[in-house]
Amino acid sequence: MPERAAVIDLAAVRHNVRHLIGLAAPATVMAVVKADAYGHGVLPVARAALDAGAGWLGVAHISEALPLRAAGIDAPLLAWLHTIESDFHAAVAADIDLGCSGWELPHIVAAANLLDTTARIHLKIDTGLGRNGSTAEDWVGFVARARAAELAGAVSVVGIFSHLAVADEIERPETDEQLADFTEAVAQAEAAGLRPTHRHIANSAGVLSRPDMHFDLVRPGLAIYGLSPFEGRTSASLGLRPAMTLRTVISMCKDVPADRGVSYGLKYHTTAASTLALIPLGYADGIPRVATGGPVRVNGVNYPVVGRIAMDQMVIDLGQADLVARGASMIGAEAVLFGPGDDGEASADDWASAAGTINYEVVTRVSPRVPRVYRNAAPSHAHLATN
Ligand SMILES: *Cc1c(COP(=O)(O)O)cnc(C)c1O
Repeated sequence: MPERAAVIDLAAVRHNVRHLIGLAAPATVMAVVKADAYGHGVLPVARAALDAGAGWLGVAHISEALPLRAAGIDAPLLAWLHTIESDFHAAVAADIDLGCSGWELPHIVAAANLLDTTARIHLKIDTGLGRNGSTAEDWVGFVARARAAELAGAVSVVGIFSHLAVADEIERPETDEQLADFTEAVAQAEAAGLRPTHRHIANSAGVLSRPDMHFDLVRPGLAIYGLSPFEGRTSASLGLRPAMTLRTVISMCKDVPADRGVSYGLKYHTTAASTLALIPLGYADGIPRVATGGPVRVNGVNYPVVGRIAMDQMVIDLGQADLVARGASMIGAEAVLFGPGDDGEASADDWASAAGTINYEVVTRVSPRVPRVYRNAAPSHAHLATN
């Protein structure tokens, strides 16, 4: 085991995917593996998700999709966030489906013509998130252009999709408005002659709370990793298992008197004679610098981080009991920041609260300096068991 590791339980990923497939059926599950699978490592997670029955993979960028193809993954694959500098030609050549909000269409048509092929595209309608996607005002003109490109043989409009803005807050009315606008956009596309077989709008929150929004395809990301998109709802209550455990070992312990300052800025002082333990993880490893107070579990106790989190390290105060013996024995003790909770360790949500952020960011920002270690790879991918 590396001295610092994000341990990824691929059996948990497979469990979560199967659970989501059960909820979504007859809709198909697209496992969203952007951002290196939310920090979990894209290839092992993509393979585990496909093993468990996911029908599609989804990423933001073409540059994230191409390595999946290069690794031999031939499952349907969608990339939806492009710039004028994106490599549409490489995407079409690699049989990657492309999200299209409008301006991309001529670029995709040009790539398809050059390759003498038909590009598969999913038209995106902005139903209220205010980011990507065609406005409702531009939609009818956009679908007409897409239909013309389809008749010319350059593209096949296989999908229409949108993205939810507030589905994690289940009482909010905007989600129903998004549903109505989406349904209307699909009807307008069909009136223009398009026959999209993949209508999709549900993220994790949508999959878990809105069966009426599953359509043909659902796009869960966070839930694949076993985390809850809803504030105040645990993974377990949703039938999910967190896949990532972030662990290291105590690097050093020392006994100090009362009123000893700790870490840059000396923002923390011991209140009594105490043992300080050094945790060799810091903001260069992706631990938010603002997350002082975040819990670290050692020998069955969760200790809050005290003082500032530095680039490489942070400190917990073990307190007063049996100073000398305890300090000496704690060097090398396992220190767990978060995990599934089976052994009483904290969750990514606890670290999110400490940092004033969300669980998405806690797992996604674990940096490349922390090796990913894989547990429970399926037998066919046993060669991925470690990295
Ligand atoms: C990231 C993303 C998802 C997945 O969202 P989760 O909340 O993690 O389930 C789905 N669709 C799009 C367009 C996304 O950008």
